[in-house]
Amino acid sequence: MHRRSFLKGASLAVLTASGDSAQTPARDPRIAYGGIGIECSTYSRLRTRMDEFTILRGAEVTSNDRFQFLKRYPVAFLPTLVATAVPGGPIERKTYETIKAEFLQRLQALLPLDGLYLPMHGAMFVEDMQDAEADWYLAARKLVGPDCLLSASYDLHGNISQPIIDTLDMLSAFRTAPHIDREETMLRSTDMLLHCLRDKIRPALLWAPIPVLMPGERSSTEWEPGKRLWAQLPALNREPGILDVSMLVGYVWADEPRSTAAVVVTGTAPANQRRIATNLAQQYWDARAEFKFGTETCTVDECVQRAIDAKTQPAILADSGDNPTGGGNSDQATVLESLLRHQARNVVFAGITDRPATEACYKAGVGKRLPLSIGATLDPKASQPVKTEGVVKFLLAETNPARREAVVEIQGVMLVVSAYRRPYHDIQDFTRLGLDPKSFKIVVVKSGYLSPELAPIANPSLMALSDGAISQDIVHLPANQYRRPSYPFVADLNFTPKIYESARNRR
Ligand SMILES: [Zn+2]
Repeated sequence: MHRRSFLKGASLAVLTASGDSAQTPARDPRIAYGGIGIECSTYSRLRTRMDEFTILRGAEVTSNDRFQFLKRYPVAFLPTLVATAVPGGPIERKTYETIKAEFLQRLQALLPLDGLYLPMHGAMFVEDMQDAEADWYLAARKLVGPDCLLSASYDLHGNISQPIIDTLDMLSAFRTAPHIDREETMLRSTDMLLHCLRDKIRPALLWAPIPVLMPGERSSTEWEPGKRLWAQLPALNREPGILDVSMLVGYVWADEPRSTAAVVVTGTAPANQRRIATNLAQQYWDARAEFKFGTETCTVDECVQRAIDAKTQPAILADSGDNPTGGGNSDQATVLESLLRHQARNVVFAGITDRPATEACYKAGVGKRLPLSIGATLDPKASQPVKTEGVVKFLLAETNPARREAVVEIQGVMLVVSAYRRPYHDIQDFTRLGLDPKSFKIVVVKSGYLSPELAPIANPSLMALSDGAISQDIVHLPANQYRRPSYPFVADLNFTPKIYESARNRR
């Protein structure tokens, strides 16, 4: 997919043209930025705690790679904090409150503010709380006051709600899945914010919820109908009075009333915004039965057998129900058990989160054989461990036991075990452990749709519909108490798009 590089030119043009404007402010606007980004499966028994968050504070945010794009603006963006974690279970309440309190404290120290940029994900779930992002924005709004403009950037899999729309002034979401437009999306968000501040524009925000809820694996923008639906957005964004057009899949593994697809349009032309949102919502609804997996899917055993039988290599088998980048536990050994039972050979499996097994490998040392129990260490109720033995092949040079990773060979399977939850979706995730994924017959990863680096080498690509905290068998997800009726959970819904405006539009 092409990068939307025109935006970069546009952002500079918008800013350097400021000398022509009759409304040029007398001083530079004061803009703060910061936020929290995580995706939480409410079906996970795990809790995301403080030690799983990476928190950048003050100058650490400014110097972080993710935020270098802000340096192209002739205005300083003032950092607060940015907290991120690998997707997982709900955030422990105390952890959330602690991070929020520090964010607010840092925000308070920067007052008064004209603008606040919020780099978010949109699918956060906090213990005993609904609509956690709205809680975050409301707290920020209370501090910065009603006149400060709030602009948020979102993942395509974020969830929207009326309180969110009522609190923000503008929103931009990714337009690609796999997500290859992260920086472009953040730029849309900050361009829009600066443009509005410079020209004293109070944008109108509106949205259209769509009662369709799909996993990302069926709604990628790499194939239809996602491809054509999202491809329209850049042109719509250039229409008169339109500042941003975003269409979100939503996050399916959250049992919340706000879990749904949505169109969100920011602009200064409400009639045009309404027309665009209505049209896109109707198109999304009309396409609902077209959303399909983009790769061959099968049960765990079938996928393992097909990978063994494949005449080409590497067969890449995605263990989708336990994918940590979607909120899966990443500690399940179901696929490993099947590989061993089928006597699969020449396999690399990256990886299973198992701190005790990782520690045992470090204790034994490279070249040593040891008895192992692999898997089910984080959630012993969700899956069964595999009892086996293996030979340690590689130990990552890492002094912190919580960040260690080891490679152990078990009957022809090179298994990566890690002390912490993490994905192995880039080639470098393998090569840093001395593994070349292309040299194996079978590569197993905990993933949904394959990453931009693994997809091109998969030959073939197989997605196992495995059990887990993000099972793809969505209509059979347990205990949905809060979710509103949506397709495919309810097959015979009627729908006519309805537009809901932000309460701030009436100010
Ligand atoms: Zn996403």
